[in-house]
Amino acid sequence: MTASTTPGQPSRYACLFEPLRIGPTTAPNRFYALPHSTGWGVAPEEAAFRGMRAEGGWGVVCTSTAEVSPDSAPAFVPFWGDEDARAMVPFCDAVHEHGALAGIELGHHGAYATPMYERIPAVAPSQIQFDYPLFSRTIPKAMERDDIRRVQADWVAAARRARDVGFDLVYVYGGHSSLPVQFLSPYYNRRTDEYGGSLENRARFWLETIELVREAIGDDCGIVVRLGVESAPQAGLGVVDDRLAVGGVHLDEALAFVRLADHLVDLWDVCYGGLLSASHDLAPSRVFGEGAFLPWTRRVREATAKPIVGNGRLTDADLMRDLVRSGDFDFVGAARPAIADPFLPRKIAAERFDEIRECIGCNQCAQRDFLGHLGCVQNPTAGEEQRRGWHPERFDRTDGDPDTPILIVGAGPAGMECARVLGRRGHTMVHLVDAAPKMGGHLRWFSALPGFRPWARVQETQELALERLPGVQFVPGKRLDLDAVLDYGAEVVIVATGAPWSRDGLNRVTRAPIPGADASRPHVLTPEQLVLEGKRPPGPRVVVYDCEAELTGVAVTQLLEQAGFEPILVSPSFLIAEHAQQSGEGPAIRAELLRAGVELVPGHAVTAVAEHGVTVRDEIGREREVAADAIVLVTQRVSDEALYLDLVGDPQRLERHGIRAVHRIGDVVAPRLLAEATFEGHQLGRALRVAAPVAVA
Ligand code: ADP
Ligand code: SF4
Repeated sequence: MTASTTPGQPSRYACLFEPLRIGPTTAPNRFYALPHSTGWGVAPEEAAFRGMRAEGGWGVVCTSTAEVSPDSAPAFVPFWGDEDARAMVPFCDAVHEHGALAGIELGHHGAYATPMYERIPAVAPSQIQFDYPLFSRTIPKAMERDDIRRVQADWVAAARRARDVGFDLVYVYGGHSSLPVQFLSPYYNRRTDEYGGSLENRARFWLETIELVREAIGDDCGIVVRLGVESAPQAGLGVVDDRLAVGGVHLDEALAFVRLADHLVDLWDVCYGGLLSASHDLAPSRVFGEGAFLPWTRRVREATAKPIVGNGRLTDADLMRDLVRSGDFDFVGAARPAIADPFLPRKIAAERFDEIRECIGCNQCAQRDFLGHLGCVQNPTAGEEQRRGWHPERFDRTDGDPDTPILIVGAGPAGMECARVLGRRGHTMVHLVDAAPKMGGHLRWFSALPGFRPWARVQETQELALERLPGVQFVPGKRLDLDAVLDYGAEVVIVATGAPWSRDGLNRVTRAPIPGADASRPHVLTPEQLVLEGKRPPGPRVVVYDCEAELTGVAVTQLLEQAGFEPILVSPSFLIAEHAQQSGEGPAIRAELLRAGVELVPGHAVTAVAEHGVTVRDEIGREREVAADAIVLVTQRVSDEALYLDLVGDPQRLERHGIRAVHRIGDVVAPRLLAEATFEGHQLGRALRVAAPVAVA
């Protein structure tokens, strides 16, 4: 693939499209789809998902972590048997079909493996429990020399298998605090033999493994080593010694390790942090901007002249070009940006920048990945390439009458996406109507919360896309009631009215509204009222009651704190923002609350609301009063389904008004992740069949 050029004028981005050797093989360009898990392992989805990245122009496309030994289980991709390797043939074929290199991230989780199904112990350099709640609760066996030799032999066998099924690049992976880093890290390695103590000793396991893999397959495949560098000790309970990096490798030691191993490595894959510094590893935009870790990761260049791939939610083409031109990185690495837009390289090549679906750093892909199937807020086709046959850039033309009048009520994520897909399918009479003056739905207020500005990119992307579709008209500032919908003149009505926050405190603890919680009163507020409608709490002390325990409650608390109020965050969860762990936000946002000195009341339910305070109850039923001037209810969202139910309640009336079909999509069905609302809008947009009009003689 070559970058587009005006005749006689080199493209500004040409350096991103130059081939580069990686050991015995050559990458066609500088776009590198990094290893990341997808949730489905080696299912058929895998080949189709990764192949789509290759089709979109990524010159290297990698797997999830493929585990070399059974004691690394449960495995993202088991890779300790020949059968496991054969299952990856379709992956290699799908990637090669588009001229890209296929990379496999061979790894071993060591102390955070949980091989309970296999009924064998986890193994690690020392017998120290891994301190990350999403993973192991096991205490590993300290590896004896036989264990070390056996894992190294497993690694070599896996590398041979990988080469034999067609992989071009093979990792000796040490990212995400995995086994080689557990050896290198003085935090986990307390050994006193030749594998512990000095840096040279702690590096020995990794160096030996790289050397063995290189001897076995180095003439055929590029040898890639991934490591996560860290700047300084991370905040958190795990910090016991200021000099230790708890998740990755401290930058000084990382540079020393790179110098020790450089002669064995064809490509360095540099990321930041590790599992214990999970906020850093997953880098949610809530906390970290694009390229936030470049000041540390780009310093690896000081220690090597070999090719480097670096990452950092890189979506800006100018930044990518500058990183490659400067020589700090040779490849632009991406996990999330390649999920959000598999065609990002091709769009940069064609300089079609406003068509790029930029990753917003929300990490809903990771949340869904933990549930077993990745998805994406910006790209609803992610993970559906094989299962539903969806292509991110191609849409079947409607097989019905393209001029059928279609009304979409609600221009939130579901409505916007549905309109876009209908427009792409050639529909000419799509009206997207919203009561609000702008499209975006709940993102309009949500992206105004502290840290959530990047989420507005979803509506900006859709606005740009819809502007290019003449068949879609956005009608702002129009609230449609039942009669207005019936009289609109539409033949198909799609209800996407969303799910605002409960106005009476309906919640998961009492499974009922809270006595006294009524958002029409001055001292009771919903998040929408506070952020969008300018309703001010009548006094300084404000309880934020957070049953969601994810993002909104903490962000509302921070908004109040920054505006000079004294928020008190009450949550029935014992861990504040407990559901923000999988997105990586949890540790970072709790640290922010603690630093700001916000009063936290975890493990308590609000049972009554009064004008000058609330009643809270602990787990064993003891109640007490908390004095407050107001409460913000972040209890649960409730589908705004009245319009839909009214419409479908009288089929004859629909017929009299010429309405042939009514659908509902997004949060109006049930409030879910943003990725689900977008998905459902996309799904209906693709599936909608509109019969051709009856010909009138
Ligand atoms: P989703 O996430 O499912 O897309 P949102 O809550 O983000 O839902 O968006 C729903 C949108 O629907 C909001 O922008 C809201 O203003 C709009 N809306 C709700 N009811 C009506 C109505 N009766 N007429 C017009 N717009 C409506
Ligand atoms: Fe990026 Fe969010 Fe999509 Fe993940 S889900 S790739 S973080 S936009």
